[in-house]
Amino acid sequence: MSVPPKRRPSSSKRRRAAHFAIAATRTSTCPKCSKQILPHRVCPFCGTYKGKEYLKSKLDKKEEKKSKKQKAQAAEKQGK
Ligand SMILES: [Zn+2]
Repeated sequence: MSVPPKRRPSSSKRRRAAHFAIAATRTSTCPKCSKQILPHRVCPFCGTYKGKEYLKSKLDKKEEKKSKKQKAQAAEKQGK
């Protein structure tokens, strides 16, 4: 036969809960754009890591989109 669980005193409950707190995430600053980023990761804003560029930055993507749009509009105008 199973034994019912014993009542846990409030002190032991609180002692267990002492380790439930979530630590704040540590960040480092990007050397290129000086924004707060996660350490040991490629900067999502400028796409660089240790001075090398690995990803397209958000600004580059925006400019690419703009130029594509402009090209499409120019092609439409020429077609008409
Ligand atoms: Zn950066």
